[in-house]
Amino acid sequence: MYNLIIFGAPGVGKGTQAKLISEKLNLAHFSTGDILRKEVEEQTELGLKAKEIIERGELVPDEIMIGIVRKALKNIKDKDGFILDGFPRTLPQAVALSELFDELNIRPVKIIYLEVNEDELVNRLIKRGRTDDTPEIIKKRFNIYIQTTSKILDYYKYKYDLFEINGVGGIDDINQSIFTMLTG
Ligand code: AMP
Repeated sequence: MYNLIIFGAPGVGKGTQAKLISEKLNLAHFSTGDILRKEVEEQTELGLKAKEIIERGELVPDEIMIGIVRKALKNIKDKDGFILDGFPRTLPQAVALSELFDELNIRPVKIIYLEVNEDELVNRLIKRGRTDDTPEIIKKRFNIYIQTTSKILDYYKYKYDLFEINGVGGIDDINQSIFTMLTG
C-alpha cells in the first residue's frame, strides 16, 4: 500500500510525476486541480463557483476542497493506495487531511517534495499555456505557494516521511529517483 502526497510549487511537475507513479503502482491519482477543471467544464454548481477563483489564481475555499478529498479517499476501490496531487495547499487543509488519515486508518503516509528553482518554474508554466498560466496569474499562484502552501512542510516534516527530490531534469530521470526512493 502506498499513501502518497506529492508536494511542490506550481509547475514543478507534480501532475506529470503523479500520473506516472499512479500507473506504475496502481494508485488512485487525485489531482484537485483536475477535479475542479472537470467541474468547471461540466458547469456544475461547484464548477461555476470555482471558475473565477481559478482564473484569478486564488485558492478555492478549504471547506470545499476538504469535502472533495474526503469523498475521494473514502471511495477508493481496487487500488493499492493513492497519490494526492495539489492538496493540501493550506494549513487547515493539512490538519483536516491528517484527521481524515486517522479516521480512515491510513498509514504510513509518505510525502514526495519536488524542488525546482523559481526561474525554471515560470518558464515551464508559460510553456504549459493553461488559461490560468498568464505571467500575472503565475506570479500570484507562486506567491500563494510561498506564503501559504510551503508552510505546510514545517507541519508535515515531523509527522510523516518526507522525501526531497530534485525536480530539475528529464521526466524519466526524476521518475526513477522517486521510484527508487519509494521502493528502496
Ligand atoms: P493546479 O492544477 O493544482 O495548479 O490547480 C489549479 C487551481 O485550482 C489552483 O490555482 C486553485 O485555484 C485551485 N485548486 C486546486 N487545488 C486546490 C486546493 N487544494 N486548495 C485550493 N484551491 C485549489
